[in-house]
Amino acid sequence: MTRGAPDPGLRALSLWWDQVADEDPAALVPRDPLDGDTTADVVVVGAGLTGLWASYYLLEADPALEVLLVEQAVAGFGASGRNGGWCSALFPTSAAGLARRHGPEAARQLRAAMRDTVVEVGGVAAAEEIGCDFAYGGTVTLARGAAQLARVRAAAEEDARWGDETHVLDPDGVAEHVRAAGVVGGSWTPDCARLQPARLVHGLARTLEERGVRIAEGTRALRLSPGAVVTDHGTVRARHVLRATEAWTPGLPGARRAVVPVYSLMVATAPLPAHVWEEIGLARGQTFTDARHLVVYGQRTADDRLAFGGRGAPYHRGSRVRPGFDRDPGVHAHLRGTLVDLFPVLAGVELTHAWGGPLAIPRDWHASVGLDPATGLGWAGGYVGDGLATTNLAGRTLADLVTGTDSPLVRLPWVGHRSPDWEPEPLRWAGVTAGLRTAALADVLERRVGTAGPLPALLGRLTGH
Ligand SMILES: Cc1cc2nc3c(=O)[nH]c(=O)nc-3n(C[C@H](O)[C@H](O)[C@H](O)COP(=O)(O)OP(=O)(O)OC[C@H]3O[C@@H](n4cnc5c(N)ncnc54)[C@H](O)[C@@H]3O)c2cc1C
Repeated sequence: MTRGAPDPGLRALSLWWDQVADEDPAALVPRDPLDGDTTADVVVVGAGLTGLWASYYLLEADPALEVLLVEQAVAGFGASGRNGGWCSALFPTSAAGLARRHGPEAARQLRAAMRDTVVEVGGVAAAEEIGCDFAYGGTVTLARGAAQLARVRAAAEEDARWGDETHVLDPDGVAEHVRAAGVVGGSWTPDCARLQPARLVHGLARTLEERGVRIAEGTRALRLSPGAVVTDHGTVRARHVLRATEAWTPGLPGARRAVVPVYSLMVATAPLPAHVWEEIGLARGQTFTDARHLVVYGQRTADDRLAFGGRGAPYHRGSRVRPGFDRDPGVHAHLRGTLVDLFPVLAGVELTHAWGGPLAIPRDWHASVGLDPATGLGWAGGYVGDGLATTNLAGRTLADLVTGTDSPLVRLPWVGHRSPDWEPEPLRWAGVTAGLRTAALADVLERRVGTAGPLPALLGRLTGH
């Protein structure tokens, strides 16, 4: 296969991309686009982790299948190459929410499947020799104030109902994992691994190519129909067409209101010296967050940086997704402030990377996967900020659906779920912006006066939790 010129701009997508490019400069050379009309057994649109995992498990099920991945940019261009590296058992819909919709047993099964998925990702990475810094350190949730502590305790009790293991910790217990300022307690769950997401993406893409999967990059799907995908480089005819386009989905015909793209932004420090890590901890690859409403998340990387992210970037009217939205100086400065507030030892630390990317929120915050047997059209997505592991479950499920395998996975309650559409603009903008502002205001009030009054309940209603 002939390959074009390197695209150094890909480095700026994330710390993770920058590291992959250092190790393997060929990662910056996009694969060839589609060369005119063609056929396949399965065409997958979008080469993020959903598309890659689906292709991987399709080949596991039937190595003779002809699978073609069509990607508008390059594999791992989307959230899959830019995320926080929490490979966790989190799912965007709470277990209680799942139980209300699908029954308690279905909710328990999905929770168990998510816990198993974390193990599965590590297992495939090991089996395929994909070095992605997988470290099964769990997640620490810090409580920094009475309101946060109450939420942490309530969440741990709730988790136990659904088979999840969450240990409530006193400040000393938290300090065994991580030493942060103002901690009054917290919790730890084992069900999360820290990893380097771009290494996972690149390793998977390479594995797939070695097995004969075609990956056409720089090829934009313009329309998905039963039996065919029209792209800007030709039409692919295939019995099965799988959509794995996540935050870009609203750009496809008929899907404008399917999800809203919301940005999550990240920063990373330079590698920190041993004495700083002695103060902070996180010695076993634990990921960490605190119990504020506007999500923050962090990890200690394999090369001893702190990578830290959070929501709060504005929603862009019309569900627009643009490269310029990946960076927001105000949000990046806020992330630095939050990081130093958590770890005062980091005051004045050098931040070497700042980036971001879009994730997709369905109207009911309910991720889904499915395949319409009549048309052969399948999809997976709507993971909000919990897609790193969930894409693997989606990939396995799509493979079973396409090959007609009657497994426990195809009976999980997210299979075939259809989320309602979002409201038309400008209502959509008003609703999403109100949600983001309510979350931020609730955090400020809890910090200043110890309670946010009715705001958390309002947020719960807005997000369907
Ligand atoms: C900054 C950030 C931090 C995050 N942190 C975490 C975390 O720590 N843990 C976690 O679980 N989740 C996290 N997430 C969410 C997680 O990364 C995503 O849910 C997951 O990667 C989604 O994978 P995907 O393959 O479905 O979508 P993506 O990785 O976004 O891939 C979609 C792909 O489809 C391509 N595409 C779209 N439209 C077309 C088209 N018309 N034609 C061809 N190609 C198309 C895109 O170019 C893209 O490559 C984070 C997200 C962000 C942005």
